[in-house]
Amino acid sequence: MKNLIVANWKLNPISQKEAKTLLDKTKRGIKNIKNADVVVCPPFVWLAVAPKRGKGGFIMGAQNCFWEEKGAFTGEISALMLADLKINYVIIGHSERRKYFNETDEQINKKIKKSLSAKLKPILCVGETAEERDSNKRAEVLERQITEDLKGVKKEEMKNIVIAYEPVWAIRTGNNCSVDETMGSILFIRKIISKLYKREIADNLRIIYGGSVKSENSGSYIKSAGANGFLVGGASLNAEEFVKIVKSAL
Ligand code: PEP
Repeated sequence: MKNLIVANWKLNPISQKEAKTLLDKTKRGIKNIKNADVVVCPPFVWLAVAPKRGKGGFIMGAQNCFWEEKGAFTGEISALMLADLKINYVIIGHSERRKYFNETDEQINKKIKKSLSAKLKPILCVGETAEERDSNKRAEVLERQITEDLKGVKKEEMKNIVIAYEPVWAIRTGNNCSVDETMGSILFIRKIISKLYKREIADNLRIIYGGSVKSENSGSYIKSAGANGFLVGGASLNAEEFVKIVKSAL
């Protein structure tokens, strides 16, 4: 399977001009790359100004969506609207949404199912906080999140799911997870998927790592931790650095 590298721009940049410059630079940097899938997830408002996917170019993704299709839900964006803009991927359940917007596993599950029915590919983020890690609850947290977030997702839909293992303590901290710990978590996630579905589905699932990924640490996650790519936050706002990270996954 091809590795997947996802840029999560979060709430950046603040102008359309900067967004276009970053998109153009990123697009130029990855234009001849065919052996990996590169997804860029800008804030919603910049999705409409993004260049169309060119040959060897990147794929567009969003950072969130709502579970209802339309109606009286002020401020929300639906999966169907994203699909209409030809967006392919959507990040669901990012720890910042779980924390700052109190997203629950039940809501995340509704978003996952609605995205799948709109033919979007959800990138489900899971991972433990520092307190949960310190109290040896990582396995429990991962199992709960994955089981509840994927409830009702059918076997045949699993080929469109990506799981991002993102230990919360590693996000934005510069304190990236060690290769050994990441490998253990990725193996554990495959074990949970195997139990919920079957081995073949677990083996074919793309599991990516996120948390302070930089070009100097990225290659080892592919080579030694069994990751199928990365979810990159801060470093994706620097096109040159992001392109180096993409190249480390080829
Ligand atoms: C993220 O936004 O999911 C992330 C991993 O951020 P950072 O790379 O900045 O830690």
